[in-house]
Amino acid sequence: MSKYQSINPYTNEVFASYENPSDQQIDEAINLSHTLYKKMRHESTTDRAKILQNLADTLRDHKDEFAELMTKEMGKVIGESKEEVDVCINICEYYANNGPKLLEPTPLPSPLGNAYYLKQATGVVLACEPWNFPLYQVIRVFAPNFVVGNPVILKHAHNVPGSAALITKLVKKAGASEGSLINLYPSYDQLAKIIADPRIQGVALTGSERGGASVAAEAGKNLKKSTMELGGNDAFIVLDDADPTVLRNVLFDARTYNDGQVCTSSKRMIVTSSCYEEVLKMLKDRFSSLKAGDPLDPGTSLPPLNSEQAKQKLQKQLDAALEGGAEIYYQYPEINHEGAFFRPVILTNVTKDNPIFDQELFGPIAVVYEVKDEAEAIALANDSSYGLGSSVIGADIKHAEEVAAQIETGMTVINGRWITSGELPFGGVKKSGYGRELSQLGLMAFVNEHLVIDVTKNNQ
Ligand code: NAP
Repeated sequence: MSKYQSINPYTNEVFASYENPSDQQIDEAINLSHTLYKKMRHESTTDRAKILQNLADTLRDHKDEFAELMTKEMGKVIGESKEEVDVCINICEYYANNGPKLLEPTPLPSPLGNAYYLKQATGVVLACEPWNFPLYQVIRVFAPNFVVGNPVILKHAHNVPGSAALITKLVKKAGASEGSLINLYPSYDQLAKIIADPRIQGVALTGSERGGASVAAEAGKNLKKSTMELGGNDAFIVLDDADPTVLRNVLFDARTYNDGQVCTSSKRMIVTSSCYEEVLKMLKDRFSSLKAGDPLDPGTSLPPLNSEQAKQKLQKQLDAALEGGAEIYYQYPEINHEGAFFRPVILTNVTKDNPIFDQELFGPIAVVYEVKDEAEAIALANDSSYGLGSSVIGADIKHAEEVAAQIETGMTVINGRWITSGELPFGGVKKSGYGRELSQLGLMAFVNEHLVIDVTKNNQ
């Protein structure tokens, strides 16, 4: 039986199931998208940009429907689901407005002749996506590749199959040609065959190290270009001169947005001694004020995790942390409900030998570290296998920028928590993956930078 099921983590109701495709259906899907790629090569980027604008408008029209489905499939609070649709509208509009210009040829001054490079499509891209932002993760890959002219085959996470189907429906409704985005529900074995198919030219994965390592290995074996957007253990560095108002405002949801299930959530609070007690108190105020309940209720701020398995995995990590000597500074009271609720926790005394020291905790657990000075804060921030995002909180901006430059991550936000927008590149270093999505960098991920040089003069 296929594992693609929509299960509401608040009620545990299984409300839809989907079958794996047959090998013939997979072949037909790849064929359709590959044929479209050949056709798109001769079509204008401006026309596709117009369709992306239609997609932005279509998402606007279907915002409530999409938000409700995401909340039912993976449990995020309804207000955040609506924000997610808004972010996707922004991304579609960014590429609709800027894509064609960014794809114009780039001149290359050369003494050898008139040189430039074209930015051309390369072929069908396979997108393997996670459940934590069911729409956003897909749009991050689809929007830039669509304007480039690379059709996308989507393999979404097994627990958001309904969202995957709705995205493809809306892309079609916006006027994109059949095959621009095809959704499949393959098994892992089928996925490996798709990656190996010569008509697939690129593989984009967002997910865990486990999924990333497996899919990247298949891509590497078949010499397919890949981008990997993986997990994070982001440091949130509080400097001595942090403004208390800024600090309180940023801490409001730095760890609890999407119930802590954000790759760039501020998972490690690294605080200089002068602000340590203040940060613990602010976090406790916030964690204890959360309201557990139905994620479809706009008054809820503490929803269930995305699944019962996720809850069990996080509980195991918490148990291991406590056995390893971590201390609970605060834990949310018992939640008497059958949903996948996890009680938010603030941990202190996590030492380097603690089993979770270098693990990603994908849920509402804040680990708070006290450090004596900034040098120790930077060293601790960099003492991680991950390198996705980070935050620096400090009033002297120039100085905060100097600290930011010393952190080994792909992104740093000063006086704010994680952020995303169409024009800003997203991605990390170390085990957080490679490549970038969004912005001009993301647009170029699966582009052929095709050099053309005219040397006629030299050979006459
Ligand atoms: P995941 O288990 O790695 O799944 C991601 C995708 O890969 C899913 O479609 C999954 O399919 C597929 N997959 C997993 N293992 C596979 C395998 N062995 N072979 C083939 N496909 C496989 O990750 P997740 O738990 O859904 O997502 C949470 C993780 O994503 C966290 O670590 C988070 O930090 C990270 N994330 C990173 C970013 C970023 O931009 N860097 C953004 C969001 C999330 P199935 O569902 O069918 O297993």
